[in-house]
Amino acid sequence: MNHIILFWCLLITIIAYPQNEERFAEMRKDMVNKQIIANGIRNPQTIKAMLKVPRHLFVSKEYLKRAYDDSPLPIGYNQTISQPFIVAYMTELTRPSRGKKALEIGTGSGYQAAILAEIVDTVYTIEIIPELAKEASDRLLRLGYKNIIVKTGDGYAGWKEHAPFDIIIVTAAGDHIPQPLLDQLAENGRLIMPVGPQWSAQQLILAVKKKGKIEQTKLAMVRFVPLLRSQ
Ligand code: SAH
Repeated sequence: MNHIILFWCLLITIIAYPQNEERFAEMRKDMVNKQIIANGIRNPQTIKAMLKVPRHLFVSKEYLKRAYDDSPLPIGYNQTISQPFIVAYMTELTRPSRGKKALEIGTGSGYQAAILAEIVDTVYTIEIIPELAKEASDRLLRLGYKNIIVKTGDGYAGWKEHAPFDIIIVTAAGDHIPQPLLDQLAENGRLIMPVGPQWSAQQLILAVKKKGKIEQTKLAMVRFVPLLRSQ
């Protein structure tokens, strides 16, 4: 009797699995059309990556149905996975392409790292909460990303051993851009970070290194969780 029940459960799972994945792919397409392209994202590689990366596998079961919503979602430890548009917007601004090396501060779920890793050669990403770093690292390995290297630590100091970086993306807000990150930016490299007060609106800043000098541009207002500091 138990064998028969088990057989049916297995059969239903096997039949339902591709349908679920198809449904999520449809939701993803919808997200890209309504939230990403409709709001002005044009970079073809960014759009391709947003269509490909299974965002529903970066959220807990509790939020599965809302994985493609136009909003950030909790990932535990008081942290969030960013709103899809913000991920696409920041990605496009970094001008990602093959041959580039990126550094992300604030791995969180690993979603932003995966989007970048679809386009650039290597993504180094630092997460200060060890549990989140471990979860993201396991998830990214499971999904087959061999070009993402996750480390636990305070990203304020950057990752000197692998510098300089063509792209630096900070996905937590601070009251200034950390000097070590500016130092680790390559010539013509692009850094993007939300700068402003904690738990309030911050301004996205784009910093570009030209002939060793930093040129800053103020962009959209955003809301990110704070950049924490290890003591
Ligand atoms: N990029 C993530 C979302 C970022 S949420 C994603 O795609 O899911 C911000 C993350 O930054 C949180 O996980 C938080 O723990 C982490 N963080 C905060 N301060 C940090 C610091 N100084 N160094 C590294 N990570 C930090």
